[in-house]
Amino acid sequence: MSSAPPPPYANEKPMNYQQAPPSQPMPAQPMTVIQPVYVGAPIQVVGDYPMQCTCPHCARQIVTRTEKKNGLLVWLICGGLVLFGFWLCCCIPFCVDSCKDTEHYCPNCNAVLGVHKKL
Ligand SMILES: [Zn+2]
Repeated sequence: MSSAPPPPYANEKPMNYQQAPPSQPMPAQPMTVIQPVYVGAPIQVVGDYPMQCTCPHCARQIVTRTEKKNGLLVWLICGGLVLFGFWLCCCIPFCVDSCKDTEHYCPNCNAVLGVHKKL
């Protein structure tokens, strides 16, 4: 058992020491953000990750639930691998989520809010 070396910093202050604000917690401000409710407006679905939006069906602030679906890109990669002779690799795209389309669902009413396609 070798003892850990002492930490590199000494008892001297850094050269550009300035009065940094003490890390005190932010004062709790009431959340007074009033967002307009876009009922019925189409939702711009961007990204592969759950996003916060207002569901046009149940008009609630929700974070979408995402599901991966095999889209066109997966099949194209699969076909490409087969064409180039990588028969054993042609199932790999089906295991890679980043190749797949992402469907966004409302967790409250299960409505499909949008599909983010890779192609
Ligand atoms: Zn909903």
